[in-house]
Amino acid sequence: MATGFLWHEKYMWHDTGSGAAENIEPDEHFENPETKRRMKNLLDVSGLTDKLIRLDPRMATEDELRRFHTEDYINKIKKLSDVNGGLAGPNTPFGKGSYEIAKLAAGGTIVATESVLSGKVDNAYALVRPPGHHAERDIGRGFCIFANVALAAMHARDIWKIERIATIDWDVHHGNGTQQAFYNDTNVLTISIHQDGLFPADSGKFEERGIGEGENFNINIPLPAGSGHGAYAATIERIVAPAVQSFHPQLILVPCGFDASVCDPLGRMLLTSESYRQLTEMLLGLAGNVCDGKIVFSHEGGYSKRYVPFCGLATIEALSGLRTEITDLGGRDDLPGQDLAPHQEILIDEIASHVKRAFLPKSGQPI
Ligand code: ZN
Repeated sequence: MATGFLWHEKYMWHDTGSGAAENIEPDEHFENPETKRRMKNLLDVSGLTDKLIRLDPRMATEDELRRFHTEDYINKIKKLSDVNGGLAGPNTPFGKGSYEIAKLAAGGTIVATESVLSGKVDNAYALVRPPGHHAERDIGRGFCIFANVALAAMHARDIWKIERIATIDWDVHHGNGTQQAFYNDTNVLTISIHQDGLFPADSGKFEERGIGEGENFNINIPLPAGSGHGAYAATIERIVAPAVQSFHPQLILVPCGFDASVCDPLGRMLLTSESYRQLTEMLLGLAGNVCDGKIVFSHEGGYSKRYVPFCGLATIEALSGLRTEITDLGGRDDLPGQDLAPHQEILIDEIASHVKRAFLPKSGQPI
C-alpha cells in the first residue's frame, strides 16, 4: 500500500498562547505543538516515515477558502494575523502569522486528497495544524480556524468532479463545522462519532440530520462518556458501514482526532492505540469495498502528549499495512469498559435502525 504522509514544520509554529485566564495559571495551551510534534518524531524514530510517500503542502488560496468561509471572516483572520494575532472565535487564539499556517493546513488536506484522487498514493495521512472540524462559515471554534476537511471535500467536488463524498469524523468532539458545510447537501454524507454533549455544547445530537434535500445525509452518533473499543467497533459495523455502503461515495475523508483515547485530558472515552489500529483497518476495508480504497485522514484533536504518538503510529501502520517494532507503553487494552455495554448497544442499534430506514439499499437516496 502506498501511503502518503503530509507534514510541515510550520504547522508547529501556530501559536495558541499560554492558556492563561482569570484564575488559570499560565501553562501550555491544550492545543499546543507537542502532541503532533511527538507523533511526527515517533514516526521518524520508528522508521515508518521513510517508508511513506512524502507529500508537501501548499497554502489554500483565498478563492479556495471562500468556497466555505465568508469574506469578512477570512479578512478578519488575515488582519489580526498580520499584527499580533487574536481570537478566531471562542477558545480559538492564534498568534502572528497563523493566517498563513491555517491556509497551509487547509491546503495540506487538499494536497493529500488530490494525491489520492490522482493515484499518486493509495491513501494518505495529513498531519496538519491547526485542526479544522469545528470551524464554521464565519467563526472559528474549538482551536480550529479554517475547515480543512470541508474545504478539501469542496475542492474534490469542484475541481475533480467527485460527485459523492463521505466524511467519517471520529474526533471525540462533534464535527460541527463539517456538518454546517454540507447540511443541505445530498452529495456529501457527513458522519460524526463523538462523546455525547461534550463540545460544542448543544451540538451533535442525533436529531440533527440535515435539512431540505440534505435530510438524512448527516448522521450524528453521540456515544455516552466511557465508551471503549466495543462501542466504537459496533458503531462502525452497524451504523457507519451500512450507511456508507448505501451512499456509495467515490472518496472518504476522515477528520481524525485521537482525543477519544483513554489518556486524553479533554475526552472521557477509552480507546487505545490498538483500538485505533483496528478501527482504521475497518475504515480501510470499507473504503476498499466502496471507493477503491480512496481514503484520506486529516489530523484534528488529541491532547495527550505521551499517548497521541502511539495512536497516530498505529493508525498510519494500519493505513500503510506496515508494522514497526515500536511497542505502545501507554495504553491499557485490558482496562474494564472496552466491551460493548448494554446501554451503548441500545443507543447504537436505535440509530442503526433509523439509518437503515432512511436509506434505500445501494441507491444512496433517502426514502
Ligand atoms: Zn476534538
